[in-house]
Amino acid sequence: MAAGRRQELAQVIVDIPHRDLDRVFHYRIPETLAGEVEPGREVWVAFHGKLTRGWVLELEVATAELERAFALQPVEAVNGSYRLGHDLLALVPWLARETLGTKADVLRLMAPPGPPVRPAAWVLLAAKPDREAIAFWEGIDPECADLLRRLSRAPQRRMKYASLTGKGGGVPPAVIDRLSDAGLVTVRQLLPKLAERATMERAREKAHQTETIADPAAKPASITNSSALPPLFPEPALTPDQKQAVHYLTEALDAAGRGGDSRPFLLHGVTGSGKTEVYICAIREALARGRQALLLVPEIALTPQTERRLRERFGSQVALLHSGLADAARRQEWQRIYRGEADLVVGARSAVFAPLPRLGLIIVDEEHEPSYRQDNDLKYHARETAMERARHCGAVVVFGSATPALETYAQALSGRFQLLKLRQRPAGGQLPPVDVIDMRDELAAGNKGMLSRYLLKAVEERLQRRQQVILYLNRRGFSTFVICRECGTVVTCPHCSISLVYHRHGEQLHCHYCNFRQDVPERCPHCRSRAIRYFGTGTQRIEEELRARFPGVPVLRMDRDVAAQEGIAPVLDAFGRGEAPILVGTQMIAKGLDFPRVTLVGVLAADASLHISDFRAAERTFQLLSQVAGRAGRAREPGQVVLQTYCPEHYCLQAVQLHDYEGFFRREIELRQQLGYPPFARLARVLFSGPEEPLVRVAADTWAEILRQQAGAVTMGLSSGLAQPEIDVWGPAPAPVAKVENRFRWLLTLRVKGDRLAALRAALIAAEGEYSRRRGRPAGVTISLMLNP
Ligand code: ADP
Ligand code: ZN
Ligand code: ZN
Repeated sequence: MAAGRRQELAQVIVDIPHRDLDRVFHYRIPETLAGEVEPGREVWVAFHGKLTRGWVLELEVATAELERAFALQPVEAVNGSYRLGHDLLALVPWLARETLGTKADVLRLMAPPGPPVRPAAWVLLAAKPDREAIAFWEGIDPECADLLRRLSRAPQRRMKYASLTGKGGGVPPAVIDRLSDAGLVTVRQLLPKLAERATMERAREKAHQTETIADPAAKPASITNSSALPPLFPEPALTPDQKQAVHYLTEALDAAGRGGDSRPFLLHGVTGSGKTEVYICAIREALARGRQALLLVPEIALTPQTERRLRERFGSQVALLHSGLADAARRQEWQRIYRGEADLVVGARSAVFAPLPRLGLIIVDEEHEPSYRQDNDLKYHARETAMERARHCGAVVVFGSATPALETYAQALSGRFQLLKLRQRPAGGQLPPVDVIDMRDELAAGNKGMLSRYLLKAVEERLQRRQQVILYLNRRGFSTFVICRECGTVVTCPHCSISLVYHRHGEQLHCHYCNFRQDVPERCPHCRSRAIRYFGTGTQRIEEELRARFPGVPVLRMDRDVAAQEGIAPVLDAFGRGEAPILVGTQMIAKGLDFPRVTLVGVLAADASLHISDFRAAERTFQLLSQVAGRAGRAREPGQVVLQTYCPEHYCLQAVQLHDYEGFFRREIELRQQLGYPPFARLARVLFSGPEEPLVRVAADTWAEILRQQAGAVTMGLSSGLAQPEIDVWGPAPAPVAKVENRFRWLLTLRVKGDRLAALRAALIAAEGEYSRRRGRPAGVTISLMLNP
């Protein structure tokens, strides 16, 4: 090493799915790659003798000790096609800690979609480029032609990427990118593509077109055409509420532009109150200031209508990221965003990691949706991640919802979020009246069917008026519970206040938090009636009842079975064309549906989701039913909603009936406080799964024992001396879905009062360490940790 020259080392996170390896490893930067190894770059390094992908977190000046301590190996290759921005890099340690995942797990989410491409493959020559192709590229892009020429002369069929792109190699990585549509491609894939493009270009030239090179990000034809049509969503004049919201958001954008911080916003307004219109205005303001915008939507809300509306306003600046895209298309969109060619990115959960270089506004629409949390792999929540990312890139954050998550609304009331309200529906359209039908009366009147007399009569009226009806069976959660058909009492756990779940096997009721069990009671514990039984119903039964009552009237059905056999779209299309006046379905039809001829929505078992074993049961039910009710009012004809229930006096259903979010919030937050559930406590979950249930039990029991010992030690003051909050350990108990793909699942639930997530995290990490030191651990059991379930 030349004297006086400061040698730099790369701190690399290697892409190995192992928690014990979740730390930086040091690598030497060889002369040929000096200047190309930078923080945020993907590199390939030798790890335990294998060429492995990794990412550079930081550079560090080499010291004699470091050099001595590690026999430093060199970085083998750099992937020049992308570099993670500093705002994304800053998320890496934070998100790994927040989710109890590894830094490699986080980085994998940020990398371009699709499997990694090994550098050796990048320069594996499959065919030699022909001279004509080189001559052609000479005219368009001399640098690319030069690369092709060199490849055609390569002595071996294999070349190290580093030797092509490194110092002395002379080919800037960007040149390789420019030649590829998707960024990371192998040369093997690249050559046929080049030939193809050359042919295409020649044809174009013949057609006397002026364009010199095809733009891979060119707009699809349909969009170019649509600008000729009158817009479907003309821009309205804003209402005073909307104006005020846009005003505050614009102010915040300006403050952010000056480097100031702003509180996140909560935009609260019912479906149809014009939230999307506010987003659009805010996005435009962000773009006008040279910043970019990210709009997150739940997967299901990414309808063609939303897309059309945004494209009408923002044209080819829009990029879409969703799970429906094929790998290649996803990669292509990713590269477009990375190059800064898309100023508005619309996508589901994982789009929160989209590589926007000038991000200035992040909107999370329907922020309460559970789909923003990823349940497998890295268990992150897009809402929290958006907030943290915004802090690092100086972006303004907006959460929007008609029914905000309880935690979010509590933040808004406490002033940590800024609350913006939209109070009316600008396009008119009243919220529909909601009738609540007490099913206990039906039983008393001798009606044992699933449809109340009131609802049947309402259906009959719609049939006579040639309007359409949707009957929605609330079956969320899948599990069944036991209810008294006379007084509506549902059997709950004496320890957790959570509904007990009926298990046909053994005729027992189980608590899925603490594993309390009891036999199915013969009489209602409240009113002593014998009409107490488990509640489980199907869409087929409703269909049969309808056919019996209205012979000859076609009925369409949409549930899991139909979706698996025919798919969802054909059934919905048929209903849209009016092929049947009645559609019966499960939660699959609750969202994203706009059928103008539907004037009646009936919800059967409106209370079913109140009794799933989850502390958020009431919140989820309120959100779901409000959504359904919001839909019915969008028709031109006035709509009506009928809710059938065994507990009409439940505050959740009453709030739905009155379209009263605030009322619901006040009752629910009070209960959460009394029972010690979030936001007044923090929960964590440990999920054990494996093919052999006894082994799964052993693992779960061992963990429970370790955690309880720790908690005991804390209570008895044996811990490190600092006052530690007390942690409750519940279970183990079978998971709500007790068996998935032949793997048995058991759960431990942990709770700490207050906002002391760090204590839960520490307990879990300590338990994990202790468990890994135990001898005779059961084989084949997967253990997965989740904070804030
Ligand atoms: P949300 O996102 O809250 O459901 P939207 O922004 O989609 O509401 O608005 C609902 C309907 O009202 C849309 O058809 C939209 O075009 C229309 N709309 C929104 N704002 C206005 C306004 N200020 N004046 C008239 N119509 C409006
Ligand atoms: Zn009873
Ligand atoms: Zn319990």
